[in-house]
Amino acid sequence: MSRLVVVSNRVALATDTKARAGGLAVALQDALMEKGGVWFGWSGKVATKPPDKPTLTKVGKVTYATLDLTRKHYSEYYNGFANRTLWPLFHYRLDLTAFSRQTSHGYMQVNAIFAEALKFLLKRNDLIWVHDYHLIPMARILRKKGARQPMGFFLHTPFPAMEILVALPQHRDLVEALCEYDLIGFQTANDVRAFLDYVVHEAGGSILGDHIIEVFGRTIRVEIFPIGIDTDALVQAGLEATRGAQSRMLRKHPGDRIWITGVDRLDYSKGIVKKFHSFERFLEKYPAYRGNVTLMQIAPPSRSEVPEYREIRHRLEAESGHINGRFAEFDWVPINYLNKSYTRLELAAFFRTSRIGLVTPLRDGMNLVAKEYVATQNPHDPGVLVLSRFAGAARELHAALTVNPFDYDAVAIAILQGLEMHLEERIERWEAMMEKLRTNTLSIWRDNFLEALGQAPYG
Ligand code: UDP
Repeated sequence: MSRLVVVSNRVALATDTKARAGGLAVALQDALMEKGGVWFGWSGKVATKPPDKPTLTKVGKVTYATLDLTRKHYSEYYNGFANRTLWPLFHYRLDLTAFSRQTSHGYMQVNAIFAEALKFLLKRNDLIWVHDYHLIPMARILRKKGARQPMGFFLHTPFPAMEILVALPQHRDLVEALCEYDLIGFQTANDVRAFLDYVVHEAGGSILGDHIIEVFGRTIRVEIFPIGIDTDALVQAGLEATRGAQSRMLRKHPGDRIWITGVDRLDYSKGIVKKFHSFERFLEKYPAYRGNVTLMQIAPPSRSEVPEYREIRHRLEAESGHINGRFAEFDWVPINYLNKSYTRLELAAFFRTSRIGLVTPLRDGMNLVAKEYVATQNPHDPGVLVLSRFAGAARELHAALTVNPFDYDAVAIAILQGLEMHLEERIERWEAMMEKLRTNTLSIWRDNFLEALGQAPYG
């Protein structure tokens, strides 16, 4: 059996229980433990000197190999090109995309340092699986160094439409590097379409059919692998949550408060400002609900060294303050804005006691929160998912109330529809969504990707 080599920006060490609490870390960990292998990436630490070799931690058949970044590389590669260029660009935010030769250079340098360090850890029969936009050039650099192993790449974010992507001065180089992988996995058909559009119209490649394409002189496989959740674990968390302090507290809230919950990392792609405006529109249009419906918005800060993230934080504080100032009564505030993170069990309690899960990103690769909200519901009295059409999850969760988050009136109407929906329809929609969550779990996603990668090369 081939070993597995996972490469990602951050490595979840077996001992790091906080990082492992996320489903993906556990799913990859399980595959690594079964097959044996290496998990390689950034340590999360910034060091004064560039490290000469990775720190290795061995747990059973798995080696965790991590490298520190220098302050300069952290700023150019991570805060710079990855999070101020590729992230906004891939989320259709050209207005927020920084174009800088220097950060692009830093990004390439870090990828080269990583590839050089990884090369020494590889064995001939390994399967190499690289994750996400931080590390696109890895395959090309490894191949130049002589690596012949099958290499797969999964993009967790959206892949932008060609007309957006070509605004990046390095677009061709980036896509050419991407095409050095044998297998490229995307979240949705939309992302694959955007990628193939580029391949055909910009790179002069051709689609051979059956997921195989020819481009830049290579034959590669391109496929949709929508990431799932650990459905059973979330169902269990939903059950356990009913006994938790959060859910007891929410149920006891004065006046039979109805909760609408949103959980989004503090990121402009999540559309939280527009969500607040839509909720404001709801309160304007349907005054009978004032005083008994509260939007609980959980928004843990992220990437706070990037200026655009500090900016969005200020805007949200101002908007929530404005709406609360406008509508609040002595015993009710419309928006409960919580700028911190919660554990999976705590979130499950919030989800389970909420009548609506309000998930309205302006663009999102998948959005696991949408799936987690559904999985944690009470099967006999489920809440309603209001979901942006621009989340990858909307491609699977057709039974959600799908909305366009730019259209405040439409979101306000969907909130009303969710609040007034009869039990029978709620159950019917919930069951249809659960069916999807049970047939495409996180471990099925992982196994499908690895099975496809195991068939490389495809030419
Ligand atoms: N999450 C969490 N605590 C929080 C907020 C979020 O554990 O306070 C988790 C959430 O349960 C989900 C993940 O972080 O599993 C967020 O994934 P998603 O795809 O929704 O968005 P991302 O942050 O990856 O863009």
